Amino acid sequence: MGSVIALANQKGGVGKTTTSVNLGACLAEKGQRVLLIDLDPQGNATSGLGVEKQNIKQSIYDVLINEVPLADVIQKTSHEGVDIAPTTIALSGAEVELTNLMARETRLKDAFGEIRKNYDFILIDCPPSLGLLTINAFTACDSILIPVQSEYYALEGLSQLLNTIKLVRKHFNPQLKIEGVLLTMFDRRTNLGQQVNSEVKKFFGDQVYDTIIPRNVRLSEAPSHGLAIIDYDKNSTGARVYQQLAKEVLANHGKE
Ligand code: ADP
Ligand code: MG
Repeated sequence: MGSVIALANQKGGVGKTTTSVNLGACLAEKGQRVLLIDLDPQGNATSGLGVEKQNIKQSIYDVLINEVPLADVIQKTSHEGVDIAPTTIALSGAEVELTNLMARETRLKDAFGEIRKNYDFILIDCPPSLGLLTINAFTACDSILIPVQSEYYALEGLSQLLNTIKLVRKHFNPQLKIEGVLLTMFDRRTNLGQQVNSEVKKFFGDQVYDTIIPRNVRLSEAPSHGLAIIDYDKNSTGARVYQQLAKEVLANHGKE
């Protein structure tokens, strides 16, 4: 049975999608079978792994709203060993449409069925909100990986996120865990980075990964080529740190 990890933080631009795509690719590089579920209507994970939106006939939207089997929407990506359940902009309507449906919080979980057996890791790239799409992710997953951008007010909003996690634990998913907290876009030239680092560690303790993701321009270029960082620039700092993160995640799962 694969481990299901949701990447979440209701702040936009903190590195959820970059981490979903590149952690996914680096886990696959280590022989893991990976499924990425693109739950953000923006679809940056979908396009970032080379899947053309105009060629998508059915997407995760149809899984959630029309009960199309998850297996029917899964496609291959530009990185061998990473499959994706892609999204289109139609998903932006799902937040409202879900409100009126039966079992609106558990529709993603209900869709997993046998699929979990085909993968070692299922990563869910969440939208920047704590609405029903994110609740579906938290109900369907085993654990949550929280990327935190290294900036002023880094911790702002995290208590809201933790509160949502608490509510989902209470009502839908008592086993829900924190997978880890990842510092992203770290700038080693400023004191701010170090300050944020120690603040986040004070708050989350040993849940913070040893791996820290620095700012690296290659990481921001790779998506426009539809490639994971290890396929775009294997020798970049970005490639190295996400390989290191994959190692850490595997170790945490007793796989190394
Ligand atoms: P989110 O999914 O949380 O909204 P993204 O992963 O899309 O965040 O990142 C926001 C923007 O920052 C994107 O343009 C992305 O390419 C860029 N980015 C993410 N991580 C890094 C990094 N470590 N260094 C430089 N740019 C980054
Ligand atoms: Mg994103």
